[in-house]
Amino acid sequence: MRIDIVTALPDLVAGPLEHSIIQRAQRKGLVDIRVHDLRHFTDDKHRTIDDYPFGGGGGMVLKPEPLFACIEAIRAEWAEQADSDELGGGEEVIYLSPDGEVLDQPLANVLSMRKRLLLVAGHYKGIDQRVRDTLITREVSIGDYVLSGGEIPALVLTDALIRLLPGVLGDAQSALSDSFQDGLLDAPNYTRPAEFRGQAVPDVLLSGDHDRIHAWREAERLRRTRERRPDLLD
Ligand code: SAM
Repeated sequence: MRIDIVTALPDLVAGPLEHSIIQRAQRKGLVDIRVHDLRHFTDDKHRTIDDYPFGGGGGMVLKPEPLFACIEAIRAEWAEQADSDELGGGEEVIYLSPDGEVLDQPLANVLSMRKRLLLVAGHYKGIDQRVRDTLITREVSIGDYVLSGGEIPALVLTDALIRLLPGVLGDAQSALSDSFQDGLLDAPNYTRPAEFRGQAVPDVLLSGDHDRIHAWREAERLRRTRERRPDLLD
């Protein structure tokens, strides 16, 4: 998978990509993440990426010219890559936006099967509508609240997708038993010591009986889902 992230703040995005599972996935060659500085696609000496909104009102809007130039340059690279790919296809240009489709596990599963994703992080009031109308194929929100920029949403989406790629997690079973993957929440998890400050791990987990452990986990997942997120059972 290749993920291109377009941002006015490349340093904000770079740090989290250099740690833990995302870093390991890149080192193993399972994902190729490229961060693009929007200012590199300007042609004035001040490297202007934003301007006042037509019609007035507060805030600035990201200009169409650098976004068009950047997205078109990346898509041209994709096209070259696709020529040498046997599979090709499976591409999306996603704008992270609070008014987009809300990210959930089924959407993460779908997007994790794409070959190339371009993630556009907005700022201020957002990006010029003509970019959205012409170049964006999908708009994704990470929840019903407003952040100041699309960088953290782009990282949230990137993390959610990468952990689903085959070979990224040491134990593939682990992602499949996580919350939301089959509509239920995860069961409680314990590790050593078996007793800590007077609290013991449930006996069944120490029994070595895999059928009983499985049944206990399924019952706990259902109980927890009923208690915390009954809406998921509907
Ligand atoms: N004017 C926009 C609105 O009311 O929908 C909000 C713009 S927000 C202050 C600036 C940028 O942050 C957006 O362009 C978007 O890229 C990003 N952003 C903020 N909240 C987000 C969310 N919940 N999900 C995805 N992106 C978000």
